[in-house]
Amino acid sequence: MANIPDFFGSMVFDERVMKARLSAKVYHSLKQTIRRGERLDPEVADAVADAMRDWAVEKGATHFTHWFQPMTDITAEKHDSFISPAPDGGVILEFSGKELIQGEPDASSFPSGGLRATFEARGYTAWDPTSYAFLKGKTLCIPTAFCAYGGEALDQKTPLLRSMEAINKQAMRVLRLFGNESVSHVTTSVGPEQEYFLIDKSVYEKRRDLIYTGRTLFGAKPPKGQELDDHYFGAIKPRVQAYMDELNEELWKLGIYAKTEHNEVAPSQHELAPIYTTTNLATDQNQLTMEVMQKVAAKHDLVCLLHEKPFAGVNGSGKHNNWSIATDTGVNLLSPGETPHENAQFLLFLVAVVQAVDEYQELLRTAVATAGNDHRLGGNEAPPAVVSVFLGDELTAILESLETDTPYSAAEKTVVKLGVHALPRFARDMTDRNRTSPFAFTGNKFEFRMVGSSQSIATVNTILNTAVAESLRQYADELEGANNFNDALHTLIQKTITAHKRIIFNGNGYDEAWIREATEKRGLSELRTTPDCIPSLIKKKNVELLTRHGVFTENELHSRYEIMLENYSKAIMIEAETMTEMARREILPAVTAFTAETAENAGKKKALAPTLGCTYETKLVERLSGLTDCIADKTAALERAMLAVRETDESVNEAFTIRDVVLPRMAELRAVCDEAETVTASDYWPFPTYGELLFSVR
Ligand code: ADP
Ligand code: MG
Repeated sequence: MANIPDFFGSMVFDERVMKARLSAKVYHSLKQTIRRGERLDPEVADAVADAMRDWAVEKGATHFTHWFQPMTDITAEKHDSFISPAPDGGVILEFSGKELIQGEPDASSFPSGGLRATFEARGYTAWDPTSYAFLKGKTLCIPTAFCAYGGEALDQKTPLLRSMEAINKQAMRVLRLFGNESVSHVTTSVGPEQEYFLIDKSVYEKRRDLIYTGRTLFGAKPPKGQELDDHYFGAIKPRVQAYMDELNEELWKLGIYAKTEHNEVAPSQHELAPIYTTTNLATDQNQLTMEVMQKVAAKHDLVCLLHEKPFAGVNGSGKHNNWSIATDTGVNLLSPGETPHENAQFLLFLVAVVQAVDEYQELLRTAVATAGNDHRLGGNEAPPAVVSVFLGDELTAILESLETDTPYSAAEKTVVKLGVHALPRFARDMTDRNRTSPFAFTGNKFEFRMVGSSQSIATVNTILNTAVAESLRQYADELEGANNFNDALHTLIQKTITAHKRIIFNGNGYDEAWIREATEKRGLSELRTTPDCIPSLIKKKNVELLTRHGVFTENELHSRYEIMLENYSKAIMIEAETMTEMARREILPAVTAFTAETAENAGKKKALAPTLGCTYETKLVERLSGLTDCIADKTAALERAMLAVRETDESVNEAFTIRDVVLPRMAELRAVCDEAETVTASDYWPFPTYGELLFSVR
């Protein structure tokens, strides 16, 4: 392998390339656009497009695409070649500023949640200069936002960019109040830790459920799962290591700081973490990472599973969203400071997050609600469906002493007065290593752990940014009119702690007693499944938040509400279809054939020696026949449930019917099929078992 610094970012039109290839004037103008979100001069756009094309063509590119993130959690692209006819019958390679700035893909096949009914079918993509263009194979990819003709966002990126603007605006107001004049911009950063499974391609290809739905819909428990905890952080197998090496290299070429890799809890489960970066970039890079993970796997005859719950009985996969907020002068606003002044600022930002999570817990929960993630949250392998914040015992004690104007510990004599006294020193609380908290403060960042492994991190960060922007807006409003800033700040922080401390919980999030306390005593909401969550998107309070900060219009929220319902229903209906097909065309014929063979063998034995009892064969035939009938019945029941869904009109009723009628029938069908698996000869079983899948990579 070549030297990492030599090829790092070689596929990215980054700062280094821009500086080298753009004139000083164009470079400066582009930087202004990026930093301040100013409009790009058409001449500048032409110059940038020329430079991009030359750079890309030199690296072998033939096509360009506007790369965007529709509401599918995966990215979309439509390739156009650079070629343009020359008068002499030849060809020239062209790429104009106009083509760079705007594209017009046909939007009609992307989820729009009804936005298309009122607007034109066409959508447009608009260049997002805050994220670098990059090369994928022979294609120059231009990160873009994707909107309907009326300007309504049809993607995940547009609201995210708007939320970054919202939090910047409100955080700047607060920083100015602290007398901070040197900062000109505030951004949030994210480091997403990505979990995934790797299995051998040959076993994958024999499982229609994995191919169609990304998860196994059948499969009896194997003799060995994750009981021994021997996989977590275990030695990485050479084949997996070779995969990770190539993956890292490909990601580095794309300018992605892939940093940490290790085995996870379940057999065949692994994790990759990059170094954190601006939320906008982190989102694009996480989408690319998921794509490259799958591509590199194919080269190694492996398949990378990004589904939240590919296998029952072992842990599913998530994505830890490490989030912080920092100034362009390099100060992490969630980092405790040294001076009383810095501390007061840190505490205000800290309680802003606590308040945001408490006020908008339902929106945060909704941002991670998908059919796949429903299998994890609350399943004692991932955080519960109740959102709470972990701060650690020490920091919690500090907040308590501030709230009540009492000394923080017996040793401390003085009562801490904000802006006057420094905070008592506290250590990063290691008790959080149990990882049961959905939203943990880990020293200088918050880690949101409910996100599903296959989800885009755009929406969750959109909500987080906006909810925190709202706390900051209220604080700025209040403090801007204060006579004595320090006094007002002290009171404000006290008031906020009192109002929102119910969301703080440092104990074991998996504990049943906690769920009861959270919902019954503290009044926190527990939205167990996706259909429970989705209506939060159009609740008055949430609509007010998101429209006030210009992050979503009311129309857009209604559209997302429809899209979420549709995505949920479609995902499960595809699973149900797959199950009935596998049951009727694979499992039933296999079990019947094995039953017949067993009966035949008993017949042969009897023919040989009529006195033989053949009790084993007879009992087995009886059991298999009983199971076959039961499988047929359960399949028919599932088919009836699916019919009932098709007869439902409203999309919200459809989702609830699927949850309450289809999912239980699916579980019943699976249970009998899994039982049949345990008594059917392995030669007859029509697809690879859990054991073969989970231990397929050696
Ligand atoms: P772990 O959660 O396994 O203890 P770390 O806390 O070291 O691991 O980091 C996990 C992720 O958090 C990494 O992607 C890292 O880059 C990211 N991270 C670290 N500091 C910050 C920060 N200030 N803001 C956002 N993400 C961060
Ligand atoms: Mg972590």
